[in-house]
Amino acid sequence: MKPVLMCREVLVDFAGFKALQGVNFEVYPNEVRFLIGPNGAGKTTLLDVICGKTRACGGKVIFFSHDITKLQEYKIVKLGISRKFQSPAIFHQLTVWENMELSLKQNRGLFAVLRAKMSTEDREKIVTLLKRIHLLDYAYQKAGALSHGQKQWLEIGMQLIQEPRLLLLDEPIAGMSGAEREKTGELIHEIALDCAVLIVEHDMDFVRRFSKQVTVMHEGKVLCEGTMEEIQQNEKVAEVYLGR
Ligand code: ADP
Repeated sequence: MKPVLMCREVLVDFAGFKALQGVNFEVYPNEVRFLIGPNGAGKTTLLDVICGKTRACGGKVIFFSHDITKLQEYKIVKLGISRKFQSPAIFHQLTVWENMELSLKQNRGLFAVLRAKMSTEDREKIVTLLKRIHLLDYAYQKAGALSHGQKQWLEIGMQLIQEPRLLLLDEPIAGMSGAEREKTGELIHEIALDCAVLIVEHDMDFVRRFSKQVTVMHEGKVLCEGTMEEIQQNEKVAEVYLGR
């Protein structure tokens, strides 16, 4: 199977400090891949490189057949990579529905945003996604009044409505209740039916519960990969991360 994303010998240098030191790494279609590692391992920098926020000074990032290493952020989004940061970027004064509508129209230009009527197809798309993110009953509520977890889901919905082929999530369950975490884990696996998901996560219980494939980073490199069971057996991982 061909990977969705392929990183080859990716290097990032911050004024002499080598944050990524030759990262080799793949994400496959319909995969939920967790990226873990101690603080400072380079996980966020790697996501930044993939979405074009940080420029690699060496190596290549290939998304399907496109070399995106030097591409601008908005072009990478157009190719189908969406990133959700830790704090939700939603419009608090707008309703849940309006947030979804804006996100849907975002790439269609000013005319689409100003046009009053939405197509039946667009409405159905929003309803389907709101059901998936457990927010259909909140469609006409102001986004600012949602719980922390619901805000996170809304932003995930706003990314999904743009039909990404790879979704990048930064600690998606931070600050969530137990029930919200569980629903988020299930949601992530549903999302993977349509697109690959790459998640930076610190909560090891969540990773144990919902991961299939895990990549461990350490000091700017991939230390090892495999299922959670496999990486827990790895001596180097135990030493640098799991504290054995
Ligand atoms: P992680 O997400 O695994 O905790 P990061 O990717 O945030 O790690 O950081 C990797 C290393 O790069 C850290 O030592 C961090 O201090 C450093 N770093 C990150 N961003 C910058 C920056 N803009 N300038 C200088 N150093 C940075």
